Amino acid sequence: MANPVIVTVDDEPQVRNAVERDLRQKYGADYRIIATGSGAEALDAVRQLKERNDPVALFLVDQLMPGMSGTEFLAQALKLYPEARRVLLTAYADTEAAIASINSLGLDYYLMKPWDPPEQNLYPVLDDLLNHWAATVAVPYDGIRVAGTLWSAKCHNTKDFLARNGVPYQWLDIEADAPTRELVEAVNKEEHRVPVVFFPDGTVLVEPDNRTLADKIGMRTQAAQTFYDLIIVGAGPAGLGAAVYGASEGLRIVMIEQEATGGQAGTSALIENYLGFPRGLSGADLAQRATMQARRFGAEILIAQEVTRVGMEGRYRVVVLGDGTRLCGHTLLIATGVSVRKLEVPGIEPLTGAGVYYGAPITEAVHCKGQDVFVVGGANSAGQAALHLSRYASKVTLLVRGSALDKRGSAKQAFAMSHYLVEQINATANIGVLLQTEVSAVEGGKRLEAITIRNKASGKSETLPAWAMFILIGAVPHTSLVSGMVDRNLAGFIRTGPDMRDGPTSRSWTLKRDPFLLETSVPGIFAAGDVRQGAIPRVAAAVGQGGMVVSFVHEYLKTV
Ligand SMILES: Cc1cc2nc3c(=O)[nH]c(=O)nc-3n(C[C@H](O)[C@H](O)[C@H](O)COP(=O)(O)OP(=O)(O)OC[C@H]3O[C@@H](n4cnc5c(N)ncnc54)[C@H](O)[C@@H]3O)c2cc1C
Repeated sequence: MANPVIVTVDDEPQVRNAVERDLRQKYGADYRIIATGSGAEALDAVRQLKERNDPVALFLVDQLMPGMSGTEFLAQALKLYPEARRVLLTAYADTEAAIASINSLGLDYYLMKPWDPPEQNLYPVLDDLLNHWAATVAVPYDGIRVAGTLWSAKCHNTKDFLARNGVPYQWLDIEADAPTRELVEAVNKEEHRVPVVFFPDGTVLVEPDNRTLADKIGMRTQAAQTFYDLIIVGAGPAGLGAAVYGASEGLRIVMIEQEATGGQAGTSALIENYLGFPRGLSGADLAQRATMQARRFGAEILIAQEVTRVGMEGRYRVVVLGDGTRLCGHTLLIATGVSVRKLEVPGIEPLTGAGVYYGAPITEAVHCKGQDVFVVGGANSAGQAALHLSRYASKVTLLVRGSALDKRGSAKQAFAMSHYLVEQINATANIGVLLQTEVSAVEGGKRLEAITIRNKASGKSETLPAWAMFILIGAVPHTSLVSGMVDRNLAGFIRTGPDMRDGPTSRSWTLKRDPFLLETSVPGIFAAGDVRQGAIPRVAAAVGQGGMVVSFVHEYLKTV
């Protein structure tokens, strides 16, 4: 961490030089000394220090200065550093102002000029104040800080992106933290834009998109080569499985991920059914381990890059990224998975990200302390979310359309909740389950305030106060990038191997050989994981298919 700072302000060069010299002599080894000639100049310096979160221990300020007096400067500077010690330098004639500011500014001391000899008139006072500051003020966080409001969808996205990529950060709620609010207002000038992200090197990003954040943090966003043996789109369990097995077998691999490695599995609080982890492991842990493993074998992983289109150029398969970059390869794996289906009820759109969340409660659970929250959905992901939230919220209510937790609710709900999760939910005192229940409306101003639920059996509706609602209600496949190119079923899932017997490919497939088990209607383009027609949404299934694809890639490469 950077040394704490002593800021001194004096408009008279001779006095300023003398103060600076005396401060450096005694405190230069342990503190950074910043000497400025005016209140305005000093305020700029103080704002920059706050942007980097450098600690300021002491302001030593002349009272009588043109433009801005010492007390006027302190009134501003203390909004950013309320815990800094504050000392005024006064001439005999300004002691009145100093005495007045003991109350108004909580002045710690005023020193009469001249203070010679400093050993007698300056250091003993400052020693006391600095020792007290060091003993009572917490060491400031010296990593990335994200400042914003709890009920902002953009803030939620930024926190989610950092958390899912394993980047530590500190969250600063400007509604609860006055110095940070002051700083954000100074950065924004007249506008209200959040989040504002502060980096330890002093860089400040306002409302950054994921790509800008990724570049700033030093994640790889650009490919090192233009041609690969296998291009993998999506770094969920299926993509990671293919990257690990493929790279370990010597294939040149690039994997492109729009958000964070781990995919849906990376958002799971605890995966208990993955082979080899008897006590379970978090999705984040699994994602980090697999990412390290893939990188160790030499796979390139690009983050915050979306593949917008897939195509063919002669014998080669091509992907086009959101920034226009084109990458070519012999083969391509679509492992883009699915995302949570949207709940379409009145009032939901403006509250999404402001109390209404899709997917697992990774970043928001901690903000639900002591509150009543709802989880919508009846499959494993909803069960896990309810269990995770029950550690923070006072009450979690699971809203399920079906008539029992361990029974398929509808044709859309392809999987019932696993038995082990149903048992844990039944044994958790602060989780309630409402069966045959659906959400019919949500309400709120700046943030979610209430939801209306309807019992399907009785037809009765009621409106309940709600702090947050997490929605996990089935899946929509990410396949627009292959539309018009690769066979998909009516719901958009990709047909592979024998499944293509039901689709148009049975007529258009021209090769003498049959398609490989995980090959799509276009030779050399494969699909694995949840994005496939008939996929079983399990981590192990996706990883297994990712591994299997590699052997088909080897077979395919023998033919090109
Ligand atoms: C909250 C939750 C908990 C779960 N818990 C369990 C569990 O305990 N046990 C279990 O077995 N299963 C669990 N599952 C299911 C399991 O996570 C999925 O079956 C598995 O993640 C599917 O892997 P996948 O690689 O096919 O797809 P995904 O995990 O969906 O990954 C696909 C990836 O592709 C990326 N992507 C999509 N489109 C593009 C594009 N155009 N360009 C670049 N990247 C793109 C996405 O951002 C995503 O990271 C859970 C799911 C959820 C949501």
